[in-house]
Amino acid sequence: MSEQQQLTSHLHTVEETLKDMDSSLEGLSGEKAAQRLEKYGPNKLPGKKLVSLWSIIFSQIKNPLIFILIAAAVISIVIGEIDDAAFIIFVILLNTGLGASQEWKAEKSAQLLEAYLQKQVRVRRDGQEKNIEAQDLVPGDIVFIESGDHVPADIRLVKVSSLKLDEALLTGESVSVTKDTGAMEEDCPPSECRNIAFAGSTVNSGRALGIVVKTGMDTEIGKIAKAVYGTEEVKPPLLVRMDRFARQVGYIVLGVAVLVAVVARAQGFEYIDVFLIAVALAVAAIPEGLPIALTVALSISTNRMAKRKVIVRKLAAVESLGSCTLIASDKTGTLTLNKQTVRAVLTGEGKRFEVTGEGYAGEGDIKGEEGRKESKVIYDIAQACILDNEASLEQKEGEWEHRGDPVEIALLAFSYKAGLSPAEVRRKAEIIGEIPFESENKFSAKFFKKDGRINVAVKGAAEVVVPLCKKTKTEGGSTGIDPEAIEQQVRSLSSEGYRVIAVAEGFPQEMISAENLGKDDLPPLEFLGLIGFLDPLRPDVKEAVKKSQEAGIKVIMITGDHPQTAFSIAKKLDIAKDMGQVLTGNDIGGMSKEEEFYPEAAEKLKGATVFARVSPLQKLKIVEVFKEEGNSVAVTGDGVNDAPALKAANIGVAMGSGTDITKDTASIIVTDDSFSSIVAGVEEGRFAYDNVRKVTYLLISTGTALVVLFITALLAGLPIALLAVQLLWLNLVTNGIQDVALAFEGGEPGAMRRKPRDPKEGIFNRLMVEQTLVSGLVMAAVSIVLWFYLIGTGWEVAQARNLLLLQVVLMQNFHVFNCRSERESAFNVPISRNYILIFGVIAAQGIHIASLYLPFMQGLLRTQPVSIAQWGALFGLASIILAAMEIYKLVKRKTGAFA
Ligand code: ADP
Ligand code: MG
Repeated sequence: MSEQQQLTSHLHTVEETLKDMDSSLEGLSGEKAAQRLEKYGPNKLPGKKLVSLWSIIFSQIKNPLIFILIAAAVISIVIGEIDDAAFIIFVILLNTGLGASQEWKAEKSAQLLEAYLQKQVRVRRDGQEKNIEAQDLVPGDIVFIESGDHVPADIRLVKVSSLKLDEALLTGESVSVTKDTGAMEEDCPPSECRNIAFAGSTVNSGRALGIVVKTGMDTEIGKIAKAVYGTEEVKPPLLVRMDRFARQVGYIVLGVAVLVAVVARAQGFEYIDVFLIAVALAVAAIPEGLPIALTVALSISTNRMAKRKVIVRKLAAVESLGSCTLIASDKTGTLTLNKQTVRAVLTGEGKRFEVTGEGYAGEGDIKGEEGRKESKVIYDIAQACILDNEASLEQKEGEWEHRGDPVEIALLAFSYKAGLSPAEVRRKAEIIGEIPFESENKFSAKFFKKDGRINVAVKGAAEVVVPLCKKTKTEGGSTGIDPEAIEQQVRSLSSEGYRVIAVAEGFPQEMISAENLGKDDLPPLEFLGLIGFLDPLRPDVKEAVKKSQEAGIKVIMITGDHPQTAFSIAKKLDIAKDMGQVLTGNDIGGMSKEEEFYPEAAEKLKGATVFARVSPLQKLKIVEVFKEEGNSVAVTGDGVNDAPALKAANIGVAMGSGTDITKDTASIIVTDDSFSSIVAGVEEGRFAYDNVRKVTYLLISTGTALVVLFITALLAGLPIALLAVQLLWLNLVTNGIQDVALAFEGGEPGAMRRKPRDPKEGIFNRLMVEQTLVSGLVMAAVSIVLWFYLIGTGWEVAQARNLLLLQVVLMQNFHVFNCRSERESAFNVPISRNYILIFGVIAAQGIHIASLYLPFMQGLLRTQPVSIAQWGALFGLASIILAAMEIYKLVKRKTGAFA
């Protein structure tokens, strides 16, 4: 990569910079861009440092169990038991290998995720606008940035409107800075360069056009920091808790093992045997397979979510989704399709027109009360809509092509129907200034010069636009304005479900400046009329809302739109029943940073399900109030202003179509923007949590059984029931296979008919502890009886162990089926829900049978072949655990304990 020159373009004018960069406002040619990409290299900073395979392996070894095993292997070698040592080493390798490969996989998928978050930028090349990947930007490129974007490179600004940037990453200060385009008089530090947008800052509001002057490592941010980009992937709390749990159990077991060792020594065992006994106990009791099985369960879940259009950015979200108790959804685009169509127009003098024609196409009609009627005001409205508009809608070879904001595309479709051609209207007017739409302001304006006169076209929410109007334009000229009558009309259109915007025009005396215009720069306006849009509901949303409500999840709607429009949609979806459940921003205060919330705001909020005309600060407040009430809140957002609310929520949900910033703060991204996908995510979250419980239940209950068996035999003065290598075999091989297979379990259909779990509740709730103890003790009892019987009837110890070991494997094979459902009978869980499990159980039993016959396995595990009759008898004995847990669940169901 070649070094780029020191930054000087802030001292130069735009023209000089264009010349310096050998570029023009038409953009670079594709060829030149390719050459420069070759010369300067990709526009990116070195990514997050890869976690090396070695450090992953090392972190696997830092585990008390592994220390014990290494010690055991060393001692086995010292006393000449080379076979044992080899087996223990094999198990250590298997365990670290499996664990490391899982972590490595997680690391890889984190990288894939980063690729998904690859930023796109809009550039002009060869005179054409197009989207390219941020890493393909080169010096000299002409780029567009707008609110919500990350600034992709260091950019000398050419044109700005109300541009405010957050440069916290660069300067450490998080106040937004205003930018302009004039050349700086003298050299200055980056924090004072008003005409440069620096890479790594984010656009809080407004938009701009600029020339890329520095890319990649040559940008200011590239110079000061090597790795500010890149998402920090932290281990999910569930895994951290479980890791800690496994380690704590490990230390306790170490303590107990020492105690047992003392007892064994007192009973006269040799030191070396005492040590092996202690090791065996530790192996039996430490849930070593747990972290691996949990990682598998969570990563399966993120894959399943991805198939259902939910991308998990933070693994913790899988867990929180499962406990979600409230979903706060946007209206436009999430509950509705955001396919806007103009359906009604009401002129200032109160004449209503209906608009026909479907979709984003300029074909249809405008009908007044007396059939199609030419109206001068309709033309004025259509013209204002064309000029105060950034979208495009054109017919090319018979097909309608569109780009931009759905509201604005719909307005273009409408203006075709009114008989105007956007291209022609735009040709006759020269745009000289703008106030871009920000959902915070709820309006937009364009200043333009036409026939030598300066005009301004304004459109936006009626409450914002109407107060700026002093007159109404009618067929016969201007008349006075009647705001109450207009308000009445807005209310009536809104309650029909229309999204309403008002349109106005004005004539400023002169333009003082073309940059950073605001509301104060608008002259007194003339009201032109109201436009009603219809935005159809997403077809599957009603079902999804119902599903959430059945699952005990409250659904609320938060929107910037009019309360009547919001209510009319909420009512169709059963989110609200009457207007009493609708609250507007005005009801709770805190409209701006300066204004306090009303003292009763929190109380009012709790009673409502629809929040209309809500500002970003209020959205944040709503999230906080519901969280304080004990909810686990999922909040959707698309614009830059939603980021604080997303951050505050338990689960921040960004829309696939949303801005970079919201995606960066969110914990999940819904690629198709739909509410139904959020509900699918919640469902998968519950499945994942259930699977985590199942996997934990299997491991802890079988571990408990082994420990009880082991200690009972020891205290009763019988021979050690199972050897350390045998216990290792059970925990890490046969049952290990089953446990990982269990993590693939498909969801139980009842998951969305239960109440959400208490977000504060851990895995080991009452039910879990009870089931673990009951099943663990039953399994222990069966094995103890068998051991007493075998020893009592004079079997040789090694043969007795061979039979006991087989019995334990068989019993664990049965017990997996108990673990498939906490509540349902194992016979009601269809095999099709997890074929991998069936395979896992057969594999576990299969390799054990193989170990009875293969000489080297016989040597290691002290196994020998059994007769079919013996196998059958042990099979029957093992099935007791299935029967026992069936009875347990039946009793629980009958007594209503599962309700
Ligand atoms: P929502 O919650 O429905 O996404 P928005 O914040 O997008 O609400 O819009 C708020 C209000 O701003 C709308 O009710 C409408 O009156 C107005 N509005 C929306 N889009 C535009 C636009 N492109 N130009 C002007 N005004 C708009
Ligand atoms: Mg919107």
